[in-house]
Amino acid sequence: MKKPSVGVFKFTSDGGCQLQILNMERELFDLLNLINITYFPMAGVDSGEGPFDIGFVEGAVTSTDEIIRIKEIREKCRILVALGACACYGGIASIKNQKTQRELEEKVYTDLTAVHSTKAFGIDQYVKVDAYVRGCPIDKNEFIEVVKSTLLQIKPNLRPHSVCVECKLRENPCIFLIEGEVCMGPVTSAGCGALCPSRHRACEGCRGPASDPNTPSLARTMLEYGLTPEEVRLKFIKYAGETQAFKEGAGIK
Ligand code: SF4
Ligand code: SF4
Repeated sequence: MKKPSVGVFKFTSDGGCQLQILNMERELFDLLNLINITYFPMAGVDSGEGPFDIGFVEGAVTSTDEIIRIKEIREKCRILVALGACACYGGIASIKNQKTQRELEEKVYTDLTAVHSTKAFGIDQYVKVDAYVRGCPIDKNEFIEVVKSTLLQIKPNLRPHSVCVECKLRENPCIFLIEGEVCMGPVTSAGCGALCPSRHRACEGCRGPASDPNTPSLARTMLEYGLTPEEVRLKFIKYAGETQAFKEGAGIK
């Protein structure tokens, strides 16, 4: 049987999620028995841009050129997967959406004639997305789950609950309640195994909103714990400030 062809594409990002794929080493060799990666420039593979059975897109869309390109890629991919926080909901790049584009462009470039930047959004702002692999960077087990379920044509088993659930399953003491370390775990989507709280670091919300999160309540609690309204806003806009739930937490109308 012919193996499905796979393309991996980069938009505005630091390449960290693609690096996670390359870091899989043993698992990647197993996956290569099932799929045929035909376009993955970071891995030195370029047999032309498609068509593809599965396309993985890393990075946010932040320019008019990228809006055109993501639409072209969508046309070439039977299944399109958003890979990582930037592609899922804009990621770190979406912090810039809080200012006007021209204000930011003038800070970075001396000659603006060739600059056509747009606000940073996840790819579903412009095209239909079939599956999301969240996180900054992605979790390798979740990536494998999405690849396998896509091949089997079943829904991936992704967790709708919050990071707090995984944190409790790991029997971590809550650093929010015990040490007053303000944590985004109560409203952030699980799937990372509560990576940061398990290392005594507060969750920063890199996986975006969990299902039905009460972000206004967490924002009020953060204020009670001594954060200023501006510090609360910055917590919510760090990775997923364009999602409705985190906008509400940040107090953005
Ligand atoms: S440390 Fe954070 S993720 Fe863990 S239970 Fe407390 S609030 Fe939730
Ligand atoms: S604990 Fe929070 S910030 Fe850390 S990896 Fe998980 S979702 Fe991201």
